[in-house]
Amino acid sequence: MHTPLCKHATGPMEACVERGIELGLRAIGFADHNPLPDGRGADVRMAESELDGYVQKVLDLQCRYHGKIEVLLGLEMDYVEGLEPYLEKQIARYPWDYVIGGVHYLDADCRMSSWPRKFKGDVGWLHRRYFELMRKMVRSGLCDIVAHFDVPKRSGCPPTGAQAGEITRTLQEIACVGLCMEINTSGYRHAELAEPETYPSAAIVEQAMAAGVTLMVNSDAHAPDQVGFRFAEVESLLRRKGCTRLAGFRQRKREWLEPEASLTAMA
Ligand SMILES: [Zn+2]
Ligand SMILES: [Zn+2]
Repeated sequence: MHTPLCKHATGPMEACVERGIELGLRAIGFADHNPLPDGRGADVRMAESELDGYVQKVLDLQCRYHGKIEVLLGLEMDYVEGLEPYLEKQIARYPWDYVIGGVHYLDADCRMSSWPRKFKGDVGWLHRRYFELMRKMVRSGLCDIVAHFDVPKRSGCPPTGAQAGEITRTLQEIACVGLCMEINTSGYRHAELAEPETYPSAAIVEQAMAAGVTLMVNSDAHAPDQVGFRFAEVESLLRRKGCTRLAGFRQRKREWLEPEASLTAMA
C-alpha cells in the first residue's frame, strides 16, 4: 500500500489499516515509493527527509493496531542501474519486513511515463532493456519481491511472443535466487491496459509457477478503497492453476502462509 507521501496516493494511512480490518485481512503492508538521490522523480516519491517519518509512522500503526491486524513495514524500491550503493545504504538503515523491487527507469532519466513516446518504434529494445535491468535487480540482492513483472504493458507495450525468451530467462533467474514475485491486482483498475488483468498476466503467473517462483498477492493500493482490491479473482485464478501456498514476509524472512488462509491474508 502507498501513502500520500508519494504524491499520487490518497487517504490517511489509518484508513488503509481500517479497510484491511473491515476486509478481514490478517496482515497488511505499507510499501511506499522510496526516495532517490538528487530529487530524481521527486514528484512521485517521498523525499529523503521524509523516510524517517514514514518508517516511524508505520511502526506506530503497528503498535496501535496490534491484536487487530498485523501492519508490516515495507518499501517499494526503484531499481536504478548505478544507484546500487545508495539503495543498499538506504535499505540497511531500517527494519523492513519486505522490500519490493521494481524497474521504472530504463536509464537514469528514462522513467516509465516517457516509455511510450520513446519506444513505440522499438518495443523489442524496450523489453530487452527492461528484462536485463530486472535480472540485474534480481541478482543485486537488494529486494525480496519482484514488482509488476510485465509493467511495460501499462505503457502500451505488452510483451509479445518475441519476448518469450527474455521472460523465461528472467523467471528462471528469479526462481534460482529464491526471490518472490507479486501478483499485483492494480492492473484491474488501470485504464491504460487493453484488458484489465493482473501484473503479470495469468499466462506469466502460470509460467512462473512452473519455473518454481514463489508468489504473493498485492493490491498496490494507492487509496484506502483499493486495499485488497479484487483478491477474490486472483484467488480463483490461483486455485484453477493449482497454486496451494503463498509467501509472506516478516523482517525480510520469507514465510509460507497456511494454504487455507494464504489466499486472503496479504494486501
Ligand atoms: Zn505509485
Ligand atoms: Zn511500481
